[in-house]
Amino acid sequence: MTGPATPLFAANWKMHLGPRDAERFAARFAGRYAPRSDRRVVFFPPAISLPAFVAAVAGRPDLQAGVQDVHEEVEGAHTGAISAPMAAQAGARWALAGHSERRREFGDDDDTVAAKTRRVLEAGLAPIVCIGETLDEREAGRLEEVLERQIRTVLAGLDAEDAERLSWAYEPVWAIGTGRTASPADAEEAHGIVRTAIAAGAGSGVAGRAAILYGGSVKPANIEELMGAPGVDGVLVGGASLEPESFAEICACPLAPR
Ligand code: PEP
Repeated sequence: MTGPATPLFAANWKMHLGPRDAERFAARFAGRYAPRSDRRVVFFPPAISLPAFVAAVAGRPDLQAGVQDVHEEVEGAHTGAISAPMAAQAGARWALAGHSERRREFGDDDDTVAAKTRRVLEAGLAPIVCIGETLDEREAGRLEEVLERQIRTVLAGLDAEDAERLSWAYEPVWAIGTGRTASPADAEEAHGIVRTAIAAGAGSGVAGRAAILYGGSVKPANIEELMGAPGVDGVLVGGASLEPESFAEICACPLAPR
């Protein structure tokens, strides 16, 4: 890959849409969104819905899927957990690591996120590493420090080839599920910090090619201005990805030449 990343539109369904709902969603979405070669579209259903979703989009290779989380081990006595190789067997091609809800509700710290990212890479999946500051951290002037620490910890365990395979999602915690969106200027500033931190850990070539997504209350009404912000290579969408019509509208947004 050379030059900036192909824009990436990702749907994080969180704990919504069971297997039958996922099939119905796939049919409705496919009817509303035609394949486009200038962008990528990836869905993160709940793990239990992944095989049904993957089967339902089998005729649409432009629609890929992944899991929202994996355990940091490959197998073992971890009731309720799934591992990266299992996700791959079930049809995942991608995996999120470090979503703020995993960090907050399940105690995933930076080291856990780094270990999970390594497992995702070992299983041949493409990770999207989620990073972002809380409101307290932002108001205390710690935006840069927090993003640098989160990124440094993940990159520390990776060689250049693996670092190249990462995508990133900058998701300010105060904007997730709150209806409050970062302004395009906020997103541009944070994405600049993220790219600089990737360059420090993996070199400027990797940083220049990395896809850095914005996440936090993205919807049809704000997608165009967010995608127009310099340094924004895509979006990770929660609430507005649960309706096929609204996510199709987001995915079809006009893109400026890159
Ligand atoms: C998310 O889940 O990553 C997210 C950004 O959610 P929402 O779009 O609902 O804010």
